[in-house]
Amino acid sequence: MELMLAQPRGFCAGVDRAIEIVERAIEQFGRPIYVRHEIVHNKYVVDDLRGKGAVFIEDLADVPPGNTVVFSAHGVSQAVRQQAEELGLNVFDATCPLVTKVHFEVAKMRREGREIIMVGHHGHPEVEGTMGQSPQGMYLVENVADVSVLKVADPNRLAYVTQTTLSVDDAAEVTAALRARFPTILEPKKSDICYATQNRQDAVKFMAPQCDLVLIIGSPSSSNSNRLREVASRMSVEAHLIENASELDPKWLEGRKRIGISAGASAPELLVQELMQVLKTLGALSVRKLDGVEESVQFPLPVGLGGNEQRGSSISQESV
Ligand code: SF4
Repeated sequence: MELMLAQPRGFCAGVDRAIEIVERAIEQFGRPIYVRHEIVHNKYVVDDLRGKGAVFIEDLADVPPGNTVVFSAHGVSQAVRQQAEELGLNVFDATCPLVTKVHFEVAKMRREGREIIMVGHHGHPEVEGTMGQSPQGMYLVENVADVSVLKVADPNRLAYVTQTTLSVDDAAEVTAALRARFPTILEPKKSDICYATQNRQDAVKFMAPQCDLVLIIGSPSSSNSNRLREVASRMSVEAHLIENASELDPKWLEGRKRIGISAGASAPELLVQELMQVLKTLGALSVRKLDGVEESVQFPLPVGLGGNEQRGSSISQESV
């Protein structure tokens, strides 16, 4: 068997930053540091931070007054921000700057008096956070069928935004349906699907046709990891999403010659390396790193955590 490694794979700049925020907060303020929701959707990362002193909660009411809380990379609604203020919590915001960019778009669209449609997955924390930027409410559509039955107040005063981690192909279909049904709908200036989602899906599209099995490392709750598995499956290649090497079923390898490997944006490289070691014990003889985009995006840390604020480029209101 030959192993193929997709490029890029694994951690994105938003995940790197979110983890660093929790680690620095623990260093600076001591344990425990409360984190609202899983900082990123990966079991290994969450367990590791828990071991270092992070306490994961869903409701801010569970944070003792005066303590420090970190908002997860997925972002939070205005109501959650306000609740944190009312409770007098010390907040560090690990919302990915590319999610914040979408929040700014929503605010701008509302100021223009538009109703806003969000394309995303019901119940995902990023969707809840983004929809919670508009106290007047927003419409949520998940697919083309939702678009066809959507009722709006004024079809000529509409705008849309999307979740950052959607399937690029699915999102293109849904937004095409929105444009067809509401020809004057305002679009985001630049796609809301983030660079990391786009690059990882492109890399799997390049890799999958060269493989007879694709393994994606990522947690079942991770949107972008699920999308990577779907991308490979849609190219008629058997694909599995696994948390780590322990979930590998040796039966999947029977008769396989080329195994493609990638990892979602919240999955550590360590888990990829462990999987490769296990595959080597099961007969993999070589590893080929595929060509792909080299990413160099970095985001600055929040003020107050000793980060170099000059690092990388931040997303500002003006950039939307
Ligand atoms: S996947 Fe995209 S939006 Fe999510 S944290 Fe990474 S860079 Fe940010």
